[in-house]
Amino acid sequence: MSTSPEGRADRGGRDGSTDGAETSVRTVACANCGRTNRVPAAAEGSPRCGNCRAPLPWIAEAGDADFREVAEQASLPVLVDLWATWCGPCRMVSPALEQVAKDLAGRIKLVKVDIDKSPALARRFEVQAVPTLLVLDHGRPVARQTGAAPANALRQWVDESLSTSHGPADPDSRRP
Ligand SMILES: [Zn+2]
Repeated sequence: MSTSPEGRADRGGRDGSTDGAETSVRTVACANCGRTNRVPAAAEGSPRCGNCRAPLPWIAEAGDADFREVAEQASLPVLVDLWATWCGPCRMVSPALEQVAKDLAGRIKLVKVDIDKSPALARRFEVQAVPTLLVLDHGRPVARQTGAAPANALRQWVDESLSTSHGPADPDSRRP
């Protein structure tokens, strides 16, 4: 019996294009068991390790074309990082945000938006300075801050935003 190349080949042949309708996939190592998992930018529910079922950090990129699918339709609250390549503080805050995404795996999704590639989102969220950070709950902004901050301060800010937006007796939380 010879091994057949069919069925496994050419499924990853679209690297490099982020403009299409298909959203991207990242590989994420499980902090619990070390297994490498493929995590799509958009999916139902939230990602879990295929081996041990631990929640995985969910970090995705989005632009004008796919923000709705990746961020607004997410089942988890979304931490949006509106950043720019020329912004020094953005480079400092990026690892802090990824740490928050790991700490709050299964509770939030981190979505990064390059504002120079996403002028419609920059206008919509009235971005005056970068980084601008937003917390979205079902697409609705519930918190916003501008400027870099250390991971522990960001995590506390996200925690407080979520506890406020998921507070008791919120009449707006009902869905049709
Ligand atoms: Zn695992």
